[in-house]
Amino acid sequence: MRICRFDNDRIGLVDGDEVVDVTSVVDHLPAARYPLPRYDPLIGALDTLRPLMALEAKTGIRRAVADVKLLSPVANANKIIAAPVNYRKHLAEAVADSGINHAKPMETIHTMGVFLKAGSSVVGADEGIKIRHPDRRNDHEVELCAIIGTQADRVPAERALDYVAGYCIGLDMTLRGGEERSLRKSIDSYTVLGPWMVTADELGEPGALDLSLSVSGEMRQSANTRDLILNLPELIALASSFYTLMPGDVIMTGTPEGVGPVQDGDILDAAIERIGRMRVLVGLDPGAST
Ligand code: MN
Repeated sequence: MRICRFDNDRIGLVDGDEVVDVTSVVDHLPAARYPLPRYDPLIGALDTLRPLMALEAKTGIRRAVADVKLLSPVANANKIIAAPVNYRKHLAEAVADSGINHAKPMETIHTMGVFLKAGSSVVGADEGIKIRHPDRRNDHEVELCAIIGTQADRVPAERALDYVAGYCIGLDMTLRGGEERSLRKSIDSYTVLGPWMVTADELGEPGALDLSLSVSGEMRQSANTRDLILNLPELIALASSFYTLMPGDVIMTGTPEGVGPVQDGDILDAAIERIGRMRVLVGLDPGAST
């Protein structure tokens, strides 16, 4: 199943190049009361909602994917957990390029662990990236993302994929500089998730997927998830050994080699095998100061 969120928070199933509107299934979610839950209720109820979505899709209104505005498939991501240096060739380029490392030691994920990005940085494919500091280097990073479906506390790698609801493409946009990653990578719109979520049963094994990214027609990144230093099950085991993962939390698995700068007017075209592709426009934040 390919589940998307679009336009004014509508929920859809993607069927070929069409979206079938199944928004009525959200009526089956429990009414929200203060304090609001610290997870995504729709992702958390997906097992219950999926048969209802399939039923609704038989009669739901169809529109062309190209005619809707795709939002992040996760509306309420609480934790965005990201891997800093998780492909060896990206480590090599980060060590060699002072524009990336800013004179700080670059070590593998075994030493550095994972970090968090703010939930407020998340946008969908059709919302675009808004550069806030155009005077500094802003880089693209394409990454396979897993969306957690079930609460996960200290799970072993062997069972980690049981906790994954689905997958999407992620762009971990990065302002380069000396500040903490969590600051530089949490700018509004610097986490692009999309174009939709492919459920785990449909995608299958995530450990050997081609991923790529081009900038305005020029191929910049092309790799395969088999080259991850810590694979997805190991990342989930690592993260959940520190904090409980909740439905809607997102694991960004790290970016391969080929990262580089983007600027106002660029079009990013990101693709991951068995998920799809998304085109994302880069613009300037209207309030950006140079
Ligand atoms: Mn990254």
